[in-house]
Amino acid sequence: QPLLGRIKDLFVFVGVVFFIAAIVPSIGYTVSYLSYFLVNTGLPSISWINWWIGELFGLMVFGPFFMRWFAYPRVSYRNQNAWIEAGITMGVVCFMGWVLFWTPYSSVVGISLIFLLLIPFFWIALRVGPRFMTLTLVVLALIALIGTPLGIHPASTSATSIGSRLLSVELFMLFLTMVFLTLTAASEERKDTTLTLERHVDELEDALSRIRREDQAKTDFLATLAHELRNPLSPIISSLDLIDTNIAKGRILPENEPHIKNIRTHVQMVTHLLDDLLDISRITRKKFKLNKSPINLNATLLQATQTVSSLYKERNHTLNLSLPKDQIWMEADPLRLQQIFVNLLYNAGKYTNPGGTISLSAQVKNEKLEVVVKDNGIGIGPEMLRKIFEPFVQVPTDARIGTGLGIGLSLTKRLVELHGGYVRAQSEGLGKGSTFIVTLPLPRAAQLPIPLVVPTPTPSYKARPQSILLVDDNEPAAQTLSSLLKAHGYSVETAYSGLQALEASSNHPDIIILDIGLPDMDGYKVAEELKKKELSSVLIALTGYGQSEDKRKAHEAGFAYHLTKPVGIAEIQAVLNKIHV
Ligand code: ADP
Repeated sequence: QPLLGRIKDLFVFVGVVFFIAAIVPSIGYTVSYLSYFLVNTGLPSISWINWWIGELFGLMVFGPFFMRWFAYPRVSYRNQNAWIEAGITMGVVCFMGWVLFWTPYSSVVGISLIFLLLIPFFWIALRVGPRFMTLTLVVLALIALIGTPLGIHPASTSATSIGSRLLSVELFMLFLTMVFLTLTAASEERKDTTLTLERHVDELEDALSRIRREDQAKTDFLATLAHELRNPLSPIISSLDLIDTNIAKGRILPENEPHIKNIRTHVQMVTHLLDDLLDISRITRKKFKLNKSPINLNATLLQATQTVSSLYKERNHTLNLSLPKDQIWMEADPLRLQQIFVNLLYNAGKYTNPGGTISLSAQVKNEKLEVVVKDNGIGIGPEMLRKIFEPFVQVPTDARIGTGLGIGLSLTKRLVELHGGYVRAQSEGLGKGSTFIVTLPLPRAAQLPIPLVVPTPTPSYKARPQSILLVDDNEPAAQTLSSLLKAHGYSVETAYSGLQALEASSNHPDIIILDIGLPDMDGYKVAEELKKKELSSVLIALTGYGQSEDKRKAHEAGFAYHLTKPVGIAEIQAVLNKIHV
């Protein structure tokens, strides 16, 4: 490129110039010597080397100028300041050149002007660019060439011949040209690289924000999907509960029992998957909050082992438990902490062939709690080990039982992190078992108020509430739940809209179970209207949204309890048991 903005181009140019500069003196010399021998003319008065330097000087100083200014005549300086900067630095060079080559002065306060001249040159090389560098070199060369024979010089220089003085000017200019054109090219190259990098960074940022947007859309979609899929599960669970009561009363043929059990297992699995999906999308959208309280770790771990006990029994696994002798108290969300260990224990049971050994141990190390879940199962390959905590990552394997989405571990990791800890996976390789280590911070002994009595939910068998008004716009859901409640001895009236609910409330039910998402007016509004009627009914909210924000809103609207769909009879019963009418 004739722009001389790259070191490579400059070196090619210099190489070509060195060669071309030799052509004219060589031909000149050959012709002179031939004519000397043939027609006896005089020998050339200039040495080959001086001639070559002269040629070199011409090509090297003027060549870049013509290339740069005539190959690309359009100047595209971005702003006026760049022009001013170029003008001032060139002016300084001209002034110094004039003093140096036209006047007897060659230094300022003892510093040679030649050194001072380098300053504006550096400036042009690093800031202004190759176009003005070539122009400055030409202008300085002209000032020097004309000033050397015409200017006034100190006695020391005027003593030497004009020829040798011109030769030193040429050498000086050659040196200056080579050094500063190289420097300019290097600086241009660096600017170009920076620009390209900046462009790439911009592109990357664009791509990143696009990916973020898409990711957000997917997370939102997953949340909505999980939420919408949970709704139809409500009536299914209620129906199953109803069937269970019929089984208990001997109204169902015994051969149907295994099928019903099968349906329940799979419905529970789907509920579990949807809950995990919702949790993960809430954590991703930072809409997730832990409900922390002082908890007893040993009890939590024991509960977790109980949750997986049926799976372990089914697969004939041995569970070795090693818990610290002293009770460990920590500040954590009890449900979520249990979920962490259940996930790990469940995976260990799932990914270990029947008859395996799984160990769960906890110990305090450097004021931190370390819980280790170790199995002798199918193990994890090194490739997989690195990404096992990413969402939707699964190892295709035959040994799997049940279904999974590959979100259990990623949810576990995030829950651990929300508790201020971290989780690691270790495995020596496929077939060599896996170990998962959860490290959680422990409060210093003095910081945690240890409750004197372990708070255990004690079911209170108070006078059973009699009448219930059930309000849900999803008719099948309302009907199955109503039959279920009736089967448990309650008298139930159903309403499918807010207005119907207000009407039915005049029968003074003991309890009103109210869906929040009603078509005509939302549950909060209905609750307000009911409050105005000064009824003594206890209000229970029934929603698909179980966030603490929703619970707070429900509480403010006058609801005494809050149930998140899908609910089974056990959850409803637990709430109803607490109500004293
Ligand atoms: P899921 O179990 O639903 O597939 P997880 O996120 O819980 O999803 O696990 C992701 C993957 O990690 C699993 O598919 C499995 O391949 C691997 N994995 C998890 N725990 C173990 C374990 N204890 N031993 C071997 N592989 C495991």
